[in-house]
Amino acid sequence: MNSQTAAWQQALAAAFTSVDSLCDYLNIAPDNLPLLADYQAFPLKVPRGFADCMEQGNPDDPLLRQVLPLQDELIDYPGYSHDPVGDLAAVAEAGIIHKYHGRVLLISTGTCAVNCRYCFRRNFPYAQLQLSTQKIQRALTYIAEHMEISEVILSGGDPLLLNDAKLGRLLQELSKIKHLRRIRIHSRVPIVLPMRITEQLLTTLSGLATQVVMVLHANHANELSSAVAKACSDLRRHGVTVLNQSVLLKGVNDAGDILCALSEKLFACGVLPYYLHLLDHASGVGHFEVSETDAKQLLITMQQRLPGYLVPKLVKEQAGAAYKIPIC
Ligand SMILES: *Cc1c(COP(=O)(O)O)cnc(C)c1O
Ligand code: SF4
Repeated sequence: MNSQTAAWQQALAAAFTSVDSLCDYLNIAPDNLPLLADYQAFPLKVPRGFADCMEQGNPDDPLLRQVLPLQDELIDYPGYSHDPVGDLAAVAEAGIIHKYHGRVLLISTGTCAVNCRYCFRRNFPYAQLQLSTQKIQRALTYIAEHMEISEVILSGGDPLLLNDAKLGRLLQELSKIKHLRRIRIHSRVPIVLPMRITEQLLTTLSGLATQVVMVLHANHANELSSAVAKACSDLRRHGVTVLNQSVLLKGVNDAGDILCALSEKLFACGVLPYYLHLLDHASGVGHFEVSETDAKQLLITMQQRLPGYLVPKLVKEQAGAAYKIPIC
């Protein structure tokens, strides 16, 4: 590794990639767990800092459950498919998904800092979609030619895995497009790799002419370490509006107490809850499903206990729909 490699890139390269090494680190005996034997198609990937937020010796830890490959992934649930939200049908241009009015999703990179077992993108043909240097110009042209686009959402994969130079160039180019009011970044990186929020990145973000919104992805209060809290306050101090989206996951956060604690902790970090998503029905993730009936009940519990601004919108994504469908 050369000296140009940033600390966060080194940390990412040192992330856990095997069940055995992660279990060893957490003092858990893997032999007693119903593990998936071959998980190389969607590998395990867990940065050490995220593992440090897990409880030692607890195989049911809610953070561990999000990343541990289990045999349950082989179960074929009816109605679960490889492209449950119709993203493939909505690809307008290489790397761009234009499904919603005024907003486009830009697939900036195919990789993530953590591999979440429940993710609908686990089956996604990233290589075809991700933004190579050659495709970037075409994507920018598409956005520039569509005056009705007011917000570009950098997604992936995780856009914050682009290095500072590449990300900086992309953000600069976008902020030159006059009809864009906002640049939004969807990222789990500030949660699982908070050291990525470097001074250089903060300077880039605060220097843009366009407003910047960052939507984090945390599912449980235990994910919000003091390092994460610092990353969030740094982002806010640099003018970024910080929101959070979660996925409702069986065995992770399907309890009123857990969801309320998450909202409270987010707000303590200066972050507002935005969406609570019902699980997308992607092949291999059915064991995480919480029924719509149970989800509604959980939302009512949150409404009873929290101020309105700490209750996220409960939504589900429907292929072909013009927006995320609210439940309740
Ligand atoms: C979720 C999503 C958006 C953003 O939707 P908001 O309701 O504005 O957060 C935009 N495009 C696609 C394809 C999406 O999946
Ligand atoms: S896209 Fe988000 S939810 Fe999916 S694996 Fe990456 S970080 Fe996890």
